[in-house]
Amino acid sequence: MTRIRRTLAALALALTLLAAGGCGKEGSPPVKGPSPEALPAYQVATGFRLPASPTWRKAKRRGYLVVGVKEDQPYLGEKDPATGRYSGFDIEIAKMMAASLGFDPKTIRFKTIASANRETALQNGQIDYYVGTYTINPLRKRLVGFAGPYFMAGQSLLVRKDENDIHGPQDLAGKTVCSVAGSTPLMRLQADYPKARAVAYDTYSVCVDNLISLQVDAVTTDNTILLGYAAKAPNELKVVGKPFSKEPYGIGVPKKDTALRFALDDAIRARERNGDWRRAYNATLGRSGVPAPRPPRVDRYPAR
Ligand code: GLU
Repeated sequence: MTRIRRTLAALALALTLLAAGGCGKEGSPPVKGPSPEALPAYQVATGFRLPASPTWRKAKRRGYLVVGVKEDQPYLGEKDPATGRYSGFDIEIAKMMAASLGFDPKTIRFKTIASANRETALQNGQIDYYVGTYTINPLRKRLVGFAGPYFMAGQSLLVRKDENDIHGPQDLAGKTVCSVAGSTPLMRLQADYPKARAVAYDTYSVCVDNLISLQVDAVTTDNTILLGYAAKAPNELKVVGKPFSKEPYGIGVPKKDTALRFALDDAIRARERNGDWRRAYNATLGRSGVPAPRPPRVDRYPAR
């Protein structure tokens, strides 16, 4: 097939999926998008001050927070193209953090930042903090700070529903596997499974389009992200095998802003204690089928 024909075929399939989602195709479960009514409202801290944080001071002067997120990850960080509104578990985490920092969550300006650009966005002050399936690891900790973790994910594999050869990462030799530039799953794929043919794009949704249009054999990233895509297209896609890594999600902050990092650590703990974390999970990520786990322990590491 020529490139154009392949693209057209992918487009047709995407439209079919869209139509199926819209009117509930017979025999398929209804698409369970996060319903905004069920979302918790977060109490905004009054009189909260954090003068030791340059990021917080700048946001106060500006009057609102700028938060980096993803826009194409169902149940996590998703932007509605019609309304421009963002929804998902990471969006809820961003909102509850804003409320704890004394900002009305409704005033947040969300900014979509791809995996490969997160560190520079934080270093350049383009965003105040980042909430978007952002794995805490030593390499990244050299460049940015991390509050949390607030969730534990694990690398997994997404394949087409009719795929019979791939059951786990051991089956990837000779297969074309798609992931995202600047992500930990891509690095692990290249380092630990060198016999797989790795392909990298800027976003996971492009990988999924490529999977549906038969241009790649699998997509690899966190189970959370993949379960979201599978839940949206249960007749076309499935997640296989057990997670084969630990991906602790943190909130990225500018590296030197320890005051902000500690305030967010406190806020995560408080929101886990008062039930907001669980309510947010149930209204978002929980809808892709996995019941609320126990959140991991916050790692309040010292300033460095
Ligand atoms: N959690 C992984 C990472 O931070 C994969 C998801 C993503 O690219 O955001 O790289």
